[in-house]
Amino acid sequence: MKLDLDRQGDGRSELVIDGVLDLGLSEGRATQAKVRGTLLVDNIQSRFVITGVLSVSGRAECGRCLTEFDLFWDASVEITILRRVDPDETEGQSLVLHQATGEVDLMGSLRECVILGYPQLSVCREDCKGLCAQCGADLNEGICNCTEVEVDPRWEGLP
Ligand SMILES: [Zn+2]
Ligand SMILES: [Zn+2]
Repeated sequence: MKLDLDRQGDGRSELVIDGVLDLGLSEGRATQAKVRGTLLVDNIQSRFVITGVLSVSGRAECGRCLTEFDLFWDASVEITILRRVDPDETEGQSLVLHQATGEVDLMGSLRECVILGYPQLSVCREDCKGLCAQCGADLNEGICNCTEVEVDPRWEGLP
């Protein structure tokens, strides 16, 4: 996940990404992610612009039933490497690195892109029924007994 600035020709080239990133996320979210894809590198005068979409996958906990499953998501990448510092430059939303020559380590920036694309709600499947709030049973495996429990007659009629 490095880009050697000295070996980049003019114009557009491709950068193949295939590796594993430590995301360091907690609360059941993927701690590691496999990232794969081909990014485009545009060499424009004093800058490089890296764009594209990476396919990401990682083991995560379902937000409803807490089962571990393979979560897949896309991460859009837009990274700008400025080879000369230009204080007048405004880069908008894009990630900006400053480096003139040599190898640029893209790991940190790619990690940011992958985390930005992380799904808000990650569920093992769209119609996951989750766990019973009372007994914790996995409702995907069947209905638990809680729904059949009748109201204790002693509580009925109380104000
Ligand atoms: Zn689930
Ligand atoms: Zn239950």
